[in-house]
Amino acid sequence: MTATQELQDRYAAAVMMTYGMPPVALARGSGCVVWDVDGNSYLDLVAGIAVSALGHAHPAIVAAVSGQAGRLAHISNLYLHEPQVRLAERLIGLLGADGRVFFTNSGAEANEAAIKLVRRRQGAARPVFVAAEHSFHGRTMGALALTGKSSIRDPFAPFGLDVRFVPYGDAGALRAAVREDCAAVFLEPCQGEAGVVPAPDGYLSAARAACDGAGALLVIDEVQSGIGRTGAWFAHQREGVVPDVVTLAKGLGGGLPVGACIGIGACGSALGKGDHGSTFAGNPIACAAALAVLDTIERDGLLGNATEVGERMAAAVLAIEHPLVTGVRGSGLWRAITLAAPAAAAVEASARHSGFLVNAVQPDAIRLAPPLILSAAEADSFTAELPSILSSASVPAGQGA
Ligand SMILES: *Cc1c(COP(=O)(O)O)cnc(C)c1O
Repeated sequence: MTATQELQDRYAAAVMMTYGMPPVALARGSGCVVWDVDGNSYLDLVAGIAVSALGHAHPAIVAAVSGQAGRLAHISNLYLHEPQVRLAERLIGLLGADGRVFFTNSGAEANEAAIKLVRRRQGAARPVFVAAEHSFHGRTMGALALTGKSSIRDPFAPFGLDVRFVPYGDAGALRAAVREDCAAVFLEPCQGEAGVVPAPDGYLSAARAACDGAGALLVIDEVQSGIGRTGAWFAHQREGVVPDVVTLAKGLGGGLPVGACIGIGACGSALGKGDHGSTFAGNPIACAAALAVLDTIERDGLLGNATEVGERMAAAVLAIEHPLVTGVRGSGLWRAITLAAPAAAAVEASARHSGFLVNAVQPDAIRLAPPLILSAAEADSFTAELPSILSSASVPAGQGA
């Protein structure tokens, strides 16, 4: 029995099966490489679902986290601390708009904060939230109410939020849905869990206009797309749209749990004393990690790296002209390889056996969301191996994985 199998048996007996049985048990990482408990190494093109922006064990994160743990790990929000103030200032500066930040521990919590902010600002006369089909906003009851995936949503209804779903990317449908009863529109600039599906050009601007016309707020969920993932600090900045609220999490802490709900303009003051809170949120260690992430992205030019290496990887995938590959979606280091058949699970397993972690985000789409430090040579090592990965995955059902 391998060390992995042994750990899987213990996992099955002690941990709820909400994630199914993970195929790999990881022990350590360095840069873009991780090692499992049996000593096998993998190039990590998942990065903990677009989280580990600086890869694993990055010296800047290690220094920031260990240094902060040695000074002050947690104080609650009864007291303030400088790293949290500095992180809020940095985020507002990167957004390039006036605003204020509420810190959270996760993406779902950032969206929960946004829901409460919207309720506070818009009142009960506007009960309706508009969200997109196939969207993903998190697993808590409020965020799940806005999530347009029936398989994860329907078993837990009702939610107590009135949500009107529209087809993603259809500006006309959005305009029709955003009426006087609508408090806010929640949108991802590119739908991550749906399979890295970018909004068509002009869609976010159309959403902004529809919200302005009806007096609704525009909430942009940048939990997955934000903090350099697309090659820009925030994906919505490419279209020059100014949202009312932006939510962040995944890449922000570089592996430490931290999220943010940023209210822009008057939305920065919609939640007042006593309206919301969280014991752990924005604690000194999480904020120190996030500041290290932002500083390192800036200092090492990682937005440019994400753009360049992402383009290189996408071009190389298209160049192999394999019959199973129909295209590449996305931007920066956030891509989906689309497949001609529902073979994503087999491709994921085949890649793993070749030493690459990728994610079968949809039955016919493979998500790549590697660390933003991924080098051209590392990207090339994957694309060079991809034809044989795909061929091994193309065996008849039952023989793969
Ligand atoms: C992952 C994700 C969330 C939920 O974040 P959690 O930290 O898992 O709660 C919300 N919105 C988007 C767009 C996401 O990708």
